Amino acid sequence: MATFRELLNQTKASIREVDTAGAEARLGTATFLDVREPDEYSQGTIPGAIHIPRGQLETNIEGRVTDHNAEVVIYCAGGTRSAFAAKTLSELGYTDVVSMAGGFNRWKDEGRAWKVPQTLSAEQRNRYQRHLLLPEVGEEGQLKLLESKVLLLGAGGLGSPAALYLAAAGVGTLGVIDMDVVDASNLQRQVLHNMDRIGDRKVDSAKKTLTLLNPDVNVVTYDTRLGADNVMDIIHGYDVIVDGTDNFPTRYLVNDASLLEEIPVVYGAIFRFEGQVSVFHPYIGPCYRCLLPEPPPAELAPSCAEAGVLGVLPGIIGSLQAMEAIKLLLGLGDSLAGRLMAYDALEASFRTFKVRRDPDCPACSIPKDRIRIAEYDDLCMPHPVEGPAAIA
Ligand SMILES: [Zn+2]
Repeated sequence: MATFRELLNQTKASIREVDTAGAEARLGTATFLDVREPDEYSQGTIPGAIHIPRGQLETNIEGRVTDHNAEVVIYCAGGTRSAFAAKTLSELGYTDVVSMAGGFNRWKDEGRAWKVPQTLSAEQRNRYQRHLLLPEVGEEGQLKLLESKVLLLGAGGLGSPAALYLAAAGVGTLGVIDMDVVDASNLQRQVLHNMDRIGDRKVDSAKKTLTLLNPDVNVVTYDTRLGADNVMDIIHGYDVIVDGTDNFPTRYLVNDASLLEEIPVVYGAIFRFEGQVSVFHPYIGPCYRCLLPEPPPAELAPSCAEAGVLGVLPGIIGSLQAMEAIKLLLGLGDSLAGRLMAYDALEASFRTFKVRRDPDCPACSIPKDRIRIAEYDDLCMPHPVEGPAAIA
């Protein structure tokens, strides 16, 4: 049986070590992996490092470092735990792993860059426990959500479920724009509101519900109509826009403004028993005008108020929008950019269609300085002289 010292020597002989200067030279190219305990990590770490305590290494590493050929620099406090961790990673098939001799203590003593990481409070750790268990989210992802800002256009059928799930997930800032008051006929689908709130401003009702659900969330309300005069100011600074509007003028307005600010829009639409979801990611995928260059004639585009909708349907579509928004915020999986997902409730089927960028799109194929933010009239038709592609 080997003593600890013999085991450590054997381990060190089987791995590669670098000194702190050699590790520093790898900053920017390598993934830095801190394997210390949470209380050590919370007092200071190398900026940009990912943190997996030694005891969770085997279970979590493949979710956090998906490329087995990635360059990985492992460190602990002094270089012992990181040596064992490096051996474990090579046994798991990681090919380019080094352990930093001297560890974080030497790194810090030598005056190299470090910072106190943001960490979750004990209450947050408990609240988001099910997220923390997902290696793809983890503490880092949860902190990212808490720092994220999502703007919800409308606190109605789509905005309600989207807002509830985004707030529950801990998206730190939720903007809500809506100019209506709560009406009893809304409650069949707009689950943010309730009987006590009838007659209240919808944004106020939304803020009450969301804050009660999760006090971590800062709800910013805009009790106004979104128009050409305010759209740029309102959307500025948001990471993702969740579009729960039900009219073409607003969709075109938001599309053009989101291109200018390069903010991805999670689109949702509902009609009777059918719903659609997509992501318009500016200049990466198609935009709304690539999908629909011109609004349909008003008689072919009845609103939800005229056509009716089964109340559960916006719950499903709005929840899908919340999921797409979180994927965008965390850079998870494949977004619906370039795809339109259609749900037919009566058939109980989902179908996905490819949507391509239109090389002649009147909005995303032209230089940004030619995009005009214009007002659209009630007939959903753009004013011809002020269309987005109109140039002098
Ligand atoms: Zn386009």
